Amino acid sequence: MRTAILWFRRDLRLADNPALQHALSGYERVIPLYIHAPEESASWQPGAASCWWLHHSLTALDGSLREHGSRLVLRHGPSLAALLHLIRESRAQAVFWNRQYEPAHLARDQAIQQALRTQGMVTEGFNASLLFEPWQIAKENGEPYRVFTPYWKTCQQRGLPHAVAEPLATLPPVPRTLGSEKLAAFTLLPRIPWDTGLAAMWQPGEAGAQELLDHFLHEALAHYSEARDFPAEPGTSRLSPALHFGEIGPRQIVSAVEQFTAAHRQPGLLAGAEAWLRQIAWREFTHSVLHHFPHTSEAPFDPRFEHFAWEMHYEPALAAWQRGKTGIPIVDAGMRELWHTGWMHNRVRMIVASLLSKNLLIPWQEGARWFWDTLVDADLANNSFGWQWVAGSGNDAAPYFRIFNPVLQGEKFDPKGRYVRRWLPELKALPDRYLHKPWEAPTNVLHEAGIRLGRHTPEPVVNLAGSRARALERFGQIRGRKGE
Ligand code: FAD
Repeated sequence: MRTAILWFRRDLRLADNPALQHALSGYERVIPLYIHAPEESASWQPGAASCWWLHHSLTALDGSLREHGSRLVLRHGPSLAALLHLIRESRAQAVFWNRQYEPAHLARDQAIQQALRTQGMVTEGFNASLLFEPWQIAKENGEPYRVFTPYWKTCQQRGLPHAVAEPLATLPPVPRTLGSEKLAAFTLLPRIPWDTGLAAMWQPGEAGAQELLDHFLHEALAHYSEARDFPAEPGTSRLSPALHFGEIGPRQIVSAVEQFTAAHRQPGLLAGAEAWLRQIAWREFTHSVLHHFPHTSEAPFDPRFEHFAWEMHYEPALAAWQRGKTGIPIVDAGMRELWHTGWMHNRVRMIVASLLSKNLLIPWQEGARWFWDTLVDADLANNSFGWQWVAGSGNDAAPYFRIFNPVLQGEKFDPKGRYVRRWLPELKALPDRYLHKPWEAPTNVLHEAGIRLGRHTPEPVVNLAGSRARALERFGQIRGRKGE
């Protein structure tokens, strides 16, 4: 019987899945496989929050496969050994997968493809997770784009691809003789149960992603341009973990946006759709940058930053930042949201990253590592790019002198303090006027709100004005330096 293995990785869905479609079109038997091989992600093995998500997403995928008459076979890595073993057991002639674009994964896949082909296997990779593969969009001279706007224009000129809507009927069953390991054997869930906040907020899997998308289109797309910067509002889609794990793909998003805007007339809808697709395109851009400049997950894009004078002894300040105990309310609210839900609003990500890399002069890589472990959407391309953008060491980055003032940012983007009060209930009674700067509140105001500085809320970990001046001076030193 013509048999193909469908190797699931970060494409944990059945709809718009080109590798699955290809396998079904040419093979009578298709064996869905997931291999647990975290060490193959080199120094970027999934963090604790990502592991939590993966566990539930694999459960959901197995459930969907079963609804269609199939099931997910789970195996431990190394991937090549697991594939060869299953090929022998199932007498498969082909292995198909959707590509992952991080440097370590691309290298692994190339080696596996070569090894399987020398054994006479048919193998092929497909694109399920990007609108354009990183090598498809280039300048006229063939060089990769370093700046977003011309990159996005080129994407638009090409036309954004749509999802292929092939209805999935039933899937061929997996023979009983093929065993699967238990998902619990991957030990993805935490031993100490810190995940109740995550479980309350998220529904990992393809169905959860579709629900979020529908809700966002109906409730938020028309207001996206204005609401997306206000962390207390449900103004963004929260689809980032689903996009990372491939529970939904960007082609499906393009199709859904176009269908929705064609069918509905609402003020602001077209502007919202344009702004949202632009954010989807930022994701494309960061993947292109990481592909062409693979060192940028560890080292600065701008070589002038290689010898930047970061602080040397910063452990206490880093710990305060990680625990949401800096004493700067919008920062602490963001870090608590992250710890509690595995996610943080984009505006607040920028504010907390600026405090770490500029006011505290802690290397951005420390922040990127903490995000890596705690975000459910931790994504190597987006995270590295986001951190370098804020730190000023990236391409198309914020200029070095843009240092977010967390007090002004809080007052502008959380004017009624709903976000801060949600995550820092100890500040609830503080009047709006002082909510973003409790250290400026007169003693009687603090007293009435039941707050003692240093007891109920920490003294600020850093003087904002002084640290801003210090950062400007430090960043100014490298300004005139030529790239090495
Ligand atoms: P929406 O506003 O609904 O946007 C839709 C999708 O577009 C997002 O799901 C995401 O896939 C993409 N997107 C939106 N903004 C950006 C952006 N600035 N850069 C790249 N893609 C974007 N995003 C991650 O997915 N994983 C990360 O690890 C990550 N780390 C970040 C670290 C820092 C320091 C910063 C400043 C940003 C980081 N981002 C990261 C980007 C952004 O914050 C999130 O993608 C966004 O907050 C996700 O929320 P959403 O799905 O509601 O976004």
